[in-house]
Amino acid sequence: MLKSNTVTLVACPTCQKKSPWSQENPDRPFCSARCKLIDLGAWASESYSIPQQTSEEDEIFSEDLVVDKNKSFL
Ligand SMILES: [Zn+2]
Repeated sequence: MLKSNTVTLVACPTCQKKSPWSQENPDRPFCSARCKLIDLGAWASESYSIPQQTSEEDEIFSEDLVVDKNKSFL
């Protein structure tokens, strides 16, 4: 009865703007396709930055081992 008139508002995860949760909004819970892409992009860059940091630390660590070996030979 009243349900058809009630619009559920959801906060956009990207910009916190309230947007109606309805079939007219295919990007829900995002307010727009732009905010949906921003969120997906942030997620992708976060998951890419972790393996990059690990490989950098690995390189530094192996360099340290080489230096230590030379020191023990001298
Ligand atoms: Zn938004």
